[in-house]
Amino acid sequence: MYTVGVDLGGTNIAVGICDEKLNIVAKGSVPTLAARDPELIVKDMSDLVGSLAENAGIPYSEISYVGIAAPGSINSDTGVVEYSNNIQMSNFPMCEIFKKYSPIKTVYIANDANAAALGEALAGAAKGAGVALMITLGTGVGGGVIMNGKIFAGGVNYSGTELGHTVLVAGGRQCTCGRRGCWEAYSSATALSRMTKEKMTELSLKGITSLMHSMEKPDGSVSARVPFAAMKQGDPYAKEVCDEYIRYLAEGITNMINIFQPHVLCIGGGVCNEKEYLTKPLIEIVERDQYTRTNPNKAKIVTATLGNDAGIIGAASLGK
Ligand SMILES: [Zn+2]
Repeated sequence: MYTVGVDLGGTNIAVGICDEKLNIVAKGSVPTLAARDPELIVKDMSDLVGSLAENAGIPYSEISYVGIAAPGSINSDTGVVEYSNNIQMSNFPMCEIFKKYSPIKTVYIANDANAAALGEALAGAAKGAGVALMITLGTGVGGGVIMNGKIFAGGVNYSGTELGHTVLVAGGRQCTCGRRGCWEAYSSATALSRMTKEKMTELSLKGITSLMHSMEKPDGSVSARVPFAAMKQGDPYAKEVCDEYIRYLAEGITNMINIFQPHVLCIGGGVCNEKEYLTKPLIEIVERDQYTRTNPNKAKIVTATLGNDAGIIGAASLGK
């Protein structure tokens, strides 16, 4: 039997059909076109599942269920997207509507960051960990907590484990959630780009040109790769940006380790492509500062291995 994972993002709908060992045997994507009627988005999700299955020669009778990873507050019991900012949905009965368009009648749904965490915990960098945490450094700071192979999403509602919206600096930088000083406002890839740009402006005012200036895009923006790329070429100002970024990231990760003491803490998102330039100094700070610094049993900090497939594989595991 096969299971299907649908990862609904703001830009693309990605679908994968998985075998029982969670290998993706067929995969495809179509644009989300997020501004349209959400029912049309769900119809495209169902159509893509159908065409992938047909091309792979897998009949619907061999698909046991579909799992959907969607952004926002997701009620996994009712199958309703209670609220999503990226794709405009409010109290949207996603699972019901999927079943309206698809012959597959067993449909599960979870928050996308939680699904990605589940994917890494079952088939990726945190495989085998009893308690696994995943932190995704992208537009925001996504968080997921997996306990014994299951998503922990909170109690009173389904909006728990928004790890990126815990405050690092009271009254600090404005966060997209309305609060000030959230971890996300310091450790997302967006925050890293902004910190880089601020450093460049500061240097320009002093009449200093750094390597980072030569990496600016024509529209004046800089990607989150710039400070690491310039640091690797010896730019001391870029190193200051990277050091500051890593310090905030380490503070947040140390907080999470002090709360959860996971067996494995997995870091995902594009910033992880910096590999040991990010992880080596980060792990040094976290191991030095964590509450259990003298305990030989410590959370293992690793980088994600499934990339964009984590959401698909996690979604395809929701019924397991
Ligand atoms: Zn926030």
